Formats: sequence, structure tokens, C-alpha cells
Amino acid sequence: MNCYECDEPTTAVAICQQCGVAVCREHVRLHAEEISDSVGPGPAQRASARRVTCPVCERAEHSKRPQGVSP
Ligand SMILES: [Zn+2]
Ligand SMILES: [Zn+2]
Repeated sequence: MNCYECDEPTTAVAICQQCGVAVCREHVRLHAEEISDSVGPGPAQRASARRVTCPVCERAEHSKRPQGVSP
């Protein structure tokens, strides 16, 4: 599969988890997310999750307003 963002055919290395397009190493956007699981007694379990998106979805997420904030 080739990268959706590249003009020339470039081998894709990942799939955007938001829109599903394939992206190459140059266009892939990796997000490290810390997920704290506080289910049950004892200390919360911390796990690092990795999310993969394309540049377009990354931009869309950054332009999103925080929830609960109204103009
Ligand atoms: Zn690309
Ligand atoms: Zn995307």
C-alpha cells in the first residue's frame, strides 16, 4: 500500500486510526497517550498507548475546541 499524502508512490508504514488512510514514515503522526486505569483498589496502572494518525487528522484534532468551553 502506498502513502495517501505523498505525490509519488511511497511505501506506507502505518494506517491512520481516525480516517483509515495509509501514511508513510514521513507523514505518520505518532501520539503517545498516557492512560491511567483507576479501576479497582490499589495504585492506578499507568500504561502508554500509541495512537497513529495522518497529518490531516492531527490538524483536525488540534483545531478542536476543548469540550465544555463555550464562546
Ligand atoms: Zn507520505
Ligand atoms: Zn487521518
